[in-house]
Amino acid sequence: MVSRKKHRSSSLKGLGIKFGATVRKRYGMAYKTLKQKRRCPSCGSLKLRRIALGIWHCEKCNYKIASGAYEISSK
Ligand SMILES: [Zn+2]
Repeated sequence: MVSRKKHRSSSLKGLGIKFGATVRKRYGMAYKTLKQKRRCPSCGSLKLRRIALGIWHCEKCNYKIASGAYEISSK
């Protein structure tokens, strides 16, 4: 059996070629944003993590925010 797999060396691991270029690009941007360190609006620490889609949680002060899926809008 001949198995040819396209290897794309990018940071978009796991997403494969399932989606179009635009979606992948957007995913990459969202992923990048997701991995950024967040400052907790309550205590100011960088322990803020996204625990679910649109829900952010601070490990330090137990603060929870419902916000954007990939971005916290602190406006
Ligand atoms: Zn906090």
